[in-house]
Amino acid sequence: MNPNFLQTPIAYLKGVGPNRAETLQSELGITTYQDLINLFPNRYLDKTQYYKIGQLQRSSADVQVLGKIVHIKTVEQKKGKRLVASFADETGEMELIWFRGQKWIKENLKLNTPYVVFGKTKWYNGKFSMPHPEMELLTEHEQGLKIFMQPIYPSTEKLSAKGITNRVLNKLMQQLFLDTKGRFMETLSNGILNELNLLPKSEALFNIHFPKNQELLAKAQFRLKFEELFYIQLQLITKKLIRKQKIKGFNFDQVGELFNIFYEEYLPFELTNAQKRVIKEIRSDLGSNAQMNRLLQGDVGSGKTIVALMTMLLAIDNEYQACIMAPTEILANQHYNGIKELLGNLNVNVSLLTGSVKKSERKVIHEQLENGELHILIGTHAVLEDKVQFKNLGLAVIDEQHRFGVAQRSKLWHKNEMPPHILVMTATPIPRTLAMSLYGDLDISVIDELPPGRKPIKTVHRYDSNRLKVFRFIKDEIKKGRQIYVVYPLIQESEALDYKDLMDGYESIVRDFPLPDYQISIVHGKMKPADKDYEMERFVKGETQIMVATTVIEVGVNVPNASVMIIESAERFGLSQLHQLRGRVGRGGDQSYCILMTSHKLSTDAKTRLETMTRTNDGFEIAEVDLKLRGPGDLMGTQQSGALNLKIADIVKDNDILKTARFYALKVLKEDPTLTHDGHKVIRYTYAQLIKHKNIWTYIS
Ligand code: ADP
Ligand code: MG
Repeated sequence: MNPNFLQTPIAYLKGVGPNRAETLQSELGITTYQDLINLFPNRYLDKTQYYKIGQLQRSSADVQVLGKIVHIKTVEQKKGKRLVASFADETGEMELIWFRGQKWIKENLKLNTPYVVFGKTKWYNGKFSMPHPEMELLTEHEQGLKIFMQPIYPSTEKLSAKGITNRVLNKLMQQLFLDTKGRFMETLSNGILNELNLLPKSEALFNIHFPKNQELLAKAQFRLKFEELFYIQLQLITKKLIRKQKIKGFNFDQVGELFNIFYEEYLPFELTNAQKRVIKEIRSDLGSNAQMNRLLQGDVGSGKTIVALMTMLLAIDNEYQACIMAPTEILANQHYNGIKELLGNLNVNVSLLTGSVKKSERKVIHEQLENGELHILIGTHAVLEDKVQFKNLGLAVIDEQHRFGVAQRSKLWHKNEMPPHILVMTATPIPRTLAMSLYGDLDISVIDELPPGRKPIKTVHRYDSNRLKVFRFIKDEIKKGRQIYVVYPLIQESEALDYKDLMDGYESIVRDFPLPDYQISIVHGKMKPADKDYEMERFVKGETQIMVATTVIEVGVNVPNASVMIIESAERFGLSQLHQLRGRVGRGGDQSYCILMTSHKLSTDAKTRLETMTRTNDGFEIAEVDLKLRGPGDLMGTQQSGALNLKIADIVKDNDILKTARFYALKVLKEDPTLTHDGHKVIRYTYAQLIKHKNIWTYIS
């Protein structure tokens, strides 16, 4: 089949016309034959299965029922007449309803004769009904062409209102297969088809729309999912290769003195294997002549800072400067203090630049940056200001990535003629599959191992009614010298109420933990930044024992002496947020606890979240559950990326197919980067077509 034929506007298909074409376009984005072919069913109805009326579920669904019409009547209403047939099997009775074509139907329906009816059921007024069913006499049904699997296409209210029902879509699809004789151009190479034993394109398309049996349907689904993911991966990998070829980076070919001395004499602990592996990955980037753009993922407390520091030492050994950017002043301060301590008396100049650094000090920093005296700059967004100029910035580390946008990242690029190497660090674990699809432009390193000797945080779920017990527990911990976080949700839609909860909670804590024995801090978003920082500092220094806060403390704060995290209304938090909050404790040598407080009213999803939190501390496992609960669209950062607008594959369920697709995309590009081998021509052609008709760019922003 000539592929241009598939670009024919849908209005030309028999049975469509201008009106339906417009609806198909606005509701399903279908403008060409090709788009229609690629409208894949959401699911299939097993037509070999009959439901008993007594078993029907109240949620509306397509079902097939075998029974007899026992009674027909016309019901007059203000809005118009409808025809109602009582339809019964041995387990019960339901209604078949028609609002149109009543006369003809009434004259043709046979009483007390077995029918097979098929359609969506509704539960109304204590009865099941099925409006405008598809129906067939059982005798005809048994003689007719047997459809085992009825495809159910995506639908919208407007589509059904305009009469484009599932049945109509089915008919259009049939027409399209007639017009094309069911022959479609192959879009994968013979090599891949043979190795993976995939169905040819034409057969896959036929069986996705008109499955001959369960096995062929499964094979068709596999082939089409593979193809979809393969071309996305091909695109992502190509983009990355182009970046590596085009964007030259500084070559750090020396592993010099500072790095070695630090490693031999200053490192306060043995690196974990994961840390060693990641440093190796980074080093190979830095010596590759291309710009590094690496995402470093590691659960809270996995030791990302030391990796960042050692990477910065590599830069300095190669006579470049480095900077770290943190999302808040507190975090920048912590990095500054931590790194100064780690470096001891090594000859490395480090400065801190935040909003509260005085003008006179700033001037000194600016000068030292420009003349190259300053080796490492640690700061907040202040680092991005135009006034801040480096002599030769070779590496920029960005901590807690989700607080910085892509635009800010690129601002760093322009601090030099040549862009610095970039290391982005995040503690928000992203399942690998998703990361592969979303951060195709970044290389990914993972620290998947915690330093030895950490005691896993004990997490429990308690109801509000147990609050007194929880308070007693807090008192015991404080007696042992520990500190406590109490966190309240703050959701924009219910901000006023949330503040009230926070203040009520704070007051009740003040009552139960009175001065002078107890000192309590409170931090929330309505406070001035300076006041917030002051209160945070008091807690960091151990001057207060309890920190009552909204989620402002979510990111990065390190108070090793804090051993209890209490999360109020925990049912209202998402999983990744709960996990982030929990990561604020368990940073010292003591046993730490996380207590999830909830009311008794819990949704199924909330129960799953609480169960997951009490079961595991593994951020990646939690991220996987989160992804399943919320779908990729809601996960942090994925909305902006506009990614994952997949037609048939499911990023969560089709994990294995994704891996296979990525493997083959890499293999093909490795063997033949320009796709010019004879065997790859079909891939090159298909890829070019996808891009030409913008059928692939929609996946990735
Ligand atoms: P995060 O990945 O959350 O930024 P940090 O870098 O702040 O974690 O490290 C958390 C704590 O673990 C720090 O106190 C750090 O000194 C310590 N740490 C890091 N790596 C190791 C290691 N290999 N062995 C022991 N302690 C380590
Ligand atoms: Mg950190």
